[in-house]
Amino acid sequence: MIEIRHLGKRFGDLTVLDDISLTIRDGEIYGIIGQSGAGKSTLLRCINGLEQYQTGSIQVDGQEVSALDKASLHALQKQMGMIFQNFNLLSRLNVYDNVALPMRFAGLNPKSPENKARILELIELVGLSDKLKARPRELSGGQKQRVAIARALVLKPRILLCDEATSALDPRITQGILSLLTQIRDEMNLTVVVVTHQMEVVKQICERVSFLKDSRLIQEGKPEELFVMPNEDISAFLGKTEEALPATGRNIRIYFTDNAEEIQLISTMARELNVDFSICRADMTDFRGKVMGSLVLNVNERDAGRVLDYLHATDYIIREDG
Ligand code: ADP
Ligand code: MG
Repeated sequence: MIEIRHLGKRFGDLTVLDDISLTIRDGEIYGIIGQSGAGKSTLLRCINGLEQYQTGSIQVDGQEVSALDKASLHALQKQMGMIFQNFNLLSRLNVYDNVALPMRFAGLNPKSPENKARILELIELVGLSDKLKARPRELSGGQKQRVAIARALVLKPRILLCDEATSALDPRITQGILSLLTQIRDEMNLTVVVVTHQMEVVKQICERVSFLKDSRLIQEGKPEELFVMPNEDISAFLGKTEEALPATGRNIRIYFTDNAEEIQLISTMARELNVDFSICRADMTDFRGKVMGSLVLNVNERDAGRVLDYLHATDYIIREDG
């Protein structure tokens, strides 16, 4: 478990992290999202002890990161694999040797049968068994990130830190990498911390997420809690503008924060109340395989009372839009 309490970090006069508190549970895929410059990478680097913090606390499994001596910090860092946007592979080494590199740094023999098996197993896991001898320049971006993932796992970490790991990849390749991260979490029971400015990443794999803005944590929760009914800061981050709704009749927004495939609500209501309405907005997206979002119904003035009564009697969150 990673427990961050009232964390404060400055570079000189610049406050980069301001009173951040959050808890990352074992085995979860946790997102940290926000605009460029919000402090996400710095937060990640504080977690693995690459940056010092001035105030507050970060405890990884009960150990205060800033209080560790060199040897203990080193041991902790071995528990945390890390992957980056630009992959950070060594261009002169082939796939096998790139994956083996952390073993060399840790003073382990990558040629021992056990270690060799580990390396080959990881390369197979990331789907690159046919590229053992390839150099990074012979690989696509997605393949390079797969090498980086295998390398990050070679010392059997319990935590995988990902800093914009898919930001340099196109959407289809991103999907593959995100599926791989989920598969790895499931198979190896890792804790995965995902720093990103991409909403898609958070929606697809994160079980909980923190939204950072200007060094501060604005909101924490399940992705659907943050993004189905976004607050002003998150709307601005997502680039959501006030949409023009029909000027006649009443506009009623229904939020679906659990699986909306039961969207029969709409047809059932139409039949039971014998009313007509139009669906003038639909903003539905996939969260880890569940469809959630909101719909706006435009209802005749004379039917609005009955429709609102019907909807308020359900568990759905209802709001009248202007
Ligand atoms: P993000 O990852 O969300 O884009 P960063 O954590 O990289 O944000 O940076 C947060 C702020 O800290 C930025 O204003 C950045 O310029 C500043 N910053 C990051 N690293 C350093 C550093 N080593 N020295 C001084 N300022 C830094
Ligand atoms: Mg960053």
